[in-house]
Amino acid sequence: MSLDQAERAVGARLLPGAKNWWFLGPGGVARLRDGHVTPEGALRPDARRQLRESGLLATTAVRSYALTVLTSTHCNLGCGYCFQNIAQDPTGGSRPPRMPQTRLTSATITSVLDFTRRQMAAVGLEKLRILLFGGEPLLNPKGCLELLERARDFGLDSAWMISNATLLTPALAGQLGALGLDSIQVTFDGDRPDHDRIRIARADGGGTYDTIVRNIARASQVSEIGWRLRVNVSQENFDGIDGLLERLATDVDPGRCTLYFARVGDVGIGYANDLLHNGELAATFSRWQRRALDLGFTVSRPDAHRVCATCGHTGGRYGAVVSADGTLASCWETAGKPDWDVGSVTDGYLPDETTRERWVGCEDLYRYHDDAPTLRTFRDSVDAALLDYLHETGRL
Ligand code: SF4
Repeated sequence: MSLDQAERAVGARLLPGAKNWWFLGPGGVARLRDGHVTPEGALRPDARRQLRESGLLATTAVRSYALTVLTSTHCNLGCGYCFQNIAQDPTGGSRPPRMPQTRLTSATITSVLDFTRRQMAAVGLEKLRILLFGGEPLLNPKGCLELLERARDFGLDSAWMISNATLLTPALAGQLGALGLDSIQVTFDGDRPDHDRIRIARADGGGTYDTIVRNIARASQVSEIGWRLRVNVSQENFDGIDGLLERLATDVDPGRCTLYFARVGDVGIGYANDLLHNGELAATFSRWQRRALDLGFTVSRPDAHRVCATCGHTGGRYGAVVSADGTLASCWETAGKPDWDVGSVTDGYLPDETTRERWVGCEDLYRYHDDAPTLRTFRDSVDAALLDYLHETGRL
């Protein structure tokens, strides 16, 4: 499939579906007919012109500054694949060694918000979107609430959180929702027995599935918070994913949940995942997506490749990742890790020549058995099949 340089520069994609081609641009998705595309998979000039005139190649200006803050680098769970671990637990238990523990304080919040104000002014942005991140952010509920409350004076427009949800009480959900938290991303590691073997309490190795779904259900009763459910996929839980979907559909309200599947990777800490990104895995992902849709979950519509607001711009032009002690990282995956800092909220970013080696982006640190073209083919195949199904069922 070939696109010209201008189309590639805005992240456009051209995918072969079962009955037609799909064009994904920053301005939206278009269903193409065979006549729009050559047998070799290139856009014909007329189709190219129509797509451009319809605004599908138009990019939109960045509207909000994207600030990620780790409120606690510690976590109460002991997931073996966590990219914040340093190694596997040498005893085979639930306590893999982690990066150093720090916790967001009131004084650091002051520095984070002053830094944010300077960064937003430098690019003329007036709106702020915050991601509460960890470790487990709810190990520091006071830090989460104080940051959101004080960020109101700095243009806070919306906020979300990535949490394991084991510590989420209804009272806390109500407070977070009232302060603008609109969604929480929560991970499941396969069906209940697999999840309870993999996503375990650090203290005693106990399972967490029941606690998580109970907390989601209770929080949903007292807040408008939406849920983004990430389903991790590995050889450890592959066979149970179909069962998980049926179970989740009864344990939570699918109408409030967006669901996605992610093959778990290894950042070099010895977590093995043997699943290859082959056609069989792509077909299985597609089957799960269709079932999730039929059960009432939302599955996000595929889109063009987008530049990450934080790691996609050297020097943190449109966003920043701040660890709990105020150090800056280029990306979630290096936040809080010694030797990966690219500055601090008090002194700003270090010079580019100093940070070049440490400026990594989303997924850069993950190690896969498959090469980049194989990963791209896998993603394209899953996304095309999803677009086919959304179209077939009138959901597009
Ligand atoms: S819950 Fe998240 S932060 Fe905690 S160990 Fe698991 S993956 Fe890491």
